[in-house]
Amino acid sequence: MFATLSDRLTATFKNLRGKGRLSEADIDATAREIRIALLEADVALPVVKEFVAAIKERARGEEVSGALNPAQQVVKIVNDELVAILGGETRRLRYAKSGPTVIMLAGLQGAGKTTLAAKLALWLKEQGKTPMLVACDLQRPNAVQQLQVNGEKVGVPVYAPEPGNGVGDPVSVAKASIEEAKRKLHDVVIVDTAGRLGVDAEMMAQAAGIRDAVQPDEVLFVVDAMIGQDALVTAQAFLDGVGYDGVVLTKLDGDARGGAALSIRQVTGRPVMFASSGEKMTDFDVFHPDRMASRILD
Ligand code: GDP
Repeated sequence: MFATLSDRLTATFKNLRGKGRLSEADIDATAREIRIALLEADVALPVVKEFVAAIKERARGEEVSGALNPAQQVVKIVNDELVAILGGETRRLRYAKSGPTVIMLAGLQGAGKTTLAAKLALWLKEQGKTPMLVACDLQRPNAVQQLQVNGEKVGVPVYAPEPGNGVGDPVSVAKASIEEAKRKLHDVVIVDTAGRLGVDAEMMAQAAGIRDAVQPDEVLFVVDAMIGQDALVTAQAFLDGVGYDGVVLTKLDGDARGGAALSIRQVTGRPVMFASSGEKMTDFDVFHPDRMASRILD
């Protein structure tokens, strides 16, 4: 396992005692440790550089208090800054003022969209909503069936192309689903879309077509935290190709340190809104910036 930032800084500060400001040499040594900790947590290099520069600036102004251990003091500064960048408070879903709220999911194949769609539906149901799931991933074999199975698990109906009607066109399915939701008085519609293994122009065009057809209130970009540094490249590609309002990090039950959350937030400006952490339908929660900050640092 990696040493925690706190351990590293305690070692760095071993010889530092007393009051006064941190010396430049101390600040440099501190910055080095923070940089290593963030890189080990998979934060992208440009984001690390910017972050460390900001922390150095802040550390210069800080008094080393006689009572507080300087390592703890710096860890606190780093933690506070991480929480602030990760969004401070959790950003909540925006609901439509009238008609069904439309939430569209986008992301690579295997990111966890189909699983997440059902988890989100369950969570909404628990908030008193009456969601409907829409199967627009007509690319991946079994994606429709997988959504139906998950929909059944959480007791949420799934709108899908009729079997036997060929593969169907996802844009038409998406459009028709909104009418169906209105007829059946569903107040939230969650649209699952197709992903591919890598960023691909055709996939982006299809997702953009679905977006235009359903005019979502929220587009959520779903990304596997385990893909580490690649998450940022994918996040940028989806921002350019489809655009989105918020991010969902999945597979946080794995050993990913969560640096992707920081990189994506910093580079795209979009908040991480939800976190998925397992295969069970209840392994899901709103994103807590403070928990993620501790995960990145511990
Ligand atoms: P999609 O291609 O984006 O729709 O991805 P899926 O929802 O099919 O998920 C791909 C795989 O990841 C499936 O085997 C899921 O069971 C699994 N999965 C999804 N979310 C999580 C998660 O939070 N943790 C873990 N461990 N596995 C997940």
